[in-house]
Amino acid sequence: MVATDSEVSSWVAGLGLPGLVDLHVHFMPDSVHRKVWAFFDRASEKYGRVWPIRYRLPVADRLEVLRGLGVIAFAPLVYPHKPGMAAWLNEWVLEFAAETPEAVPTATIYPEPEVASYLDSALRAGVRTVKVHVQVGGYDPRSPLLDKAWGMIADAAVPVVVHCGHGPLRGEFTGLDVFSEVLARHPGLVAVLAHAGMPEISGALDLVSRYPGVYLDTTMVGVPFSSPLPADWVPRLVDVADRIVLGTDFPNIPYEYAVQLSAIEGWAAADDRLGSGFLRAVLHDTPARLLRLGQGNS
Ligand SMILES: [Zn+2]
Repeated sequence: MVATDSEVSSWVAGLGLPGLVDLHVHFMPDSVHRKVWAFFDRASEKYGRVWPIRYRLPVADRLEVLRGLGVIAFAPLVYPHKPGMAAWLNEWVLEFAAETPEAVPTATIYPEPEVASYLDSALRAGVRTVKVHVQVGGYDPRSPLLDKAWGMIADAAVPVVVHCGHGPLRGEFTGLDVFSEVLARHPGLVAVLAHAGMPEISGALDLVSRYPGVYLDTTMVGVPFSSPLPADWVPRLVDVADRIVLGTDFPNIPYEYAVQLSAIEGWAAADDRLGSGFLRAVLHDTPARLLRLGQGNS
């Protein structure tokens, strides 16, 4: 069993993996990250519980933590909370990825007239994933201003990590019922439902079954901090074992990184049909395939 961060890299090696691929990590410009952390500091007002950030460290130290854990590749996700911010975040994260060997280039979008133009630049620059945060952005993912962008992302077959669930806070346009309308209009999207759609996990599994391009990330799923999983979570994983990818929300988590891995290890151990094959798929093979690792650029 993997219980603490110091045990992670040897546990990963013991699975026969070259390392971990984490599809859901956050690095942002310092000014933005300070605001995000200040928000979590007020978590008891906002979420009704304290949320002590476990890895509130300078960038270089955060990268050292990831390397020490054996994270060989990760997607640094950025997201805007207002108009006029996404293009700047995209430029920042491209630069960050260029100077950070383990980071793949990513991008984000916002419903605004310029979105098709800056998304086109980002796709041409070779971004490996796009992040959409419906709750923080406070926008409707069905907005006509985004329709072309969804089509471009689908055509490029670039995975889009979508935080569209009601957790931890309900937003005006959160919920799988809203996002499933985007999927119905763009059924070819490769969409990774962040946090497995929490709290609508059963509905998220239904979307995985319905659309061949829908995946779930494990971010904060099944950890003691989060709400309990549906009773049939593990048996349902058997049918979608190649559609689950490691995500963690590092560094903004209120517990050690190993806690997430321990939860995933628990699912694998709970059903013989999962086991170490499932772990290798979730922790490395499937996210590596989605991020096109080993295909140049990163
Ligand atoms: Zn996140």
